Amino acid sequence: MAPVIDLHIHTSHSDGLKSPAEVLSMVRRSKLVAFSICDHDSYEAYLEIRKLLKKNDPELVPGVELSAGSDGEDIHILGYCFDPDSDILGEAVERFREGRNRRGEIMLKRLKMLGIDITMDLVREIAGGSAIGRPHVADALVRVKAVEKFEDAFSHYIGLRGPAYVPKENLTPGEAIELIHRANGLAVLAHPGIAAADKYINEFIGYGMDGIEVYHPRHTQAQREHYMEIAKERHLLSTGGSDYHGREGRYGMIGSQPVPVRLLTELKEKSNLENRGSS
Ligand code: AMP
Ligand code: ZN
Ligand code: FE
Ligand code: FE
Repeated sequence: MAPVIDLHIHTSHSDGLKSPAEVLSMVRRSKLVAFSICDHDSYEAYLEIRKLLKKNDPELVPGVELSAGSDGEDIHILGYCFDPDSDILGEAVERFREGRNRRGEIMLKRLKMLGIDITMDLVREIAGGSAIGRPHVADALVRVKAVEKFEDAFSHYIGLRGPAYVPKENLTPGEAIELIHRANGLAVLAHPGIAAADKYINEFIGYGMDGIEVYHPRHTQAQREHYMEIAKERHLLSTGGSDYHGREGRYGMIGSQPVPVRLLTELKEKSNLENRGSS
């Protein structure tokens, strides 16, 4: 079998269940030759795993998944091959983190008005040091028995049309792409098939978007071919991964997408080309 890569994995630094160290040992047991952690608005896991890597480990590629949709739209912009030690992205991520924690507090106030008492301490404990997201609030709702299942938290309270839904303070897609570029990275539109994002592709190319995510567990074979075709026509890079979250029933297992290593080679070639002489 040809060597494969997985460029879209989540850890407990966003809404994944597994810690960076656990993800690393799963990657070591897989057949992957390279991987990238793309947590929502965080690359803390990259910094952690980088320190744990041994000589013959699969290659770790810097990655992040920036939220850039408004009104609950799933516009996610992936950033790859950026400079992980750049202050530009580091400061932005810190601002997102503060914004998410403020939003967490507002969600809890809304829930309180609905008669549900959840403390910020509980949510922080569940989040385990990562920025507060709705999945952590959902887990808290299960914990205090306000709902039976994780999914019920979304359908009853914190989903897009729920009474305790609070939108995230996001970058616009153009700002996300610009931010990634300023950190010498490449910007890729995540899972356009589940984001219904075809209508934005032209606009985002105008902002300098470098690629689209072609391989994703929620893309059908037809969608994969469709996005491959668009990438070829518009001279975009193509990427892909499992979008592993470690939550049962959501997305794929690490390495479950047949992403050829050639796509990483192309990504790195473009990255080297663009950053030659700069910085
Ligand atoms: P946030 O970024 O804090 O708005 O949280 C978004 C995350 O919540 C997504 O990445 C999913 O993991 C989760 N999520 C959103 N909607 C649902 C839903 N209807 N059912 C289960 N999980 C959801
Ligand atoms: Zn997620
Ligand atoms: Fe996503
Ligand atoms: Fe993701």
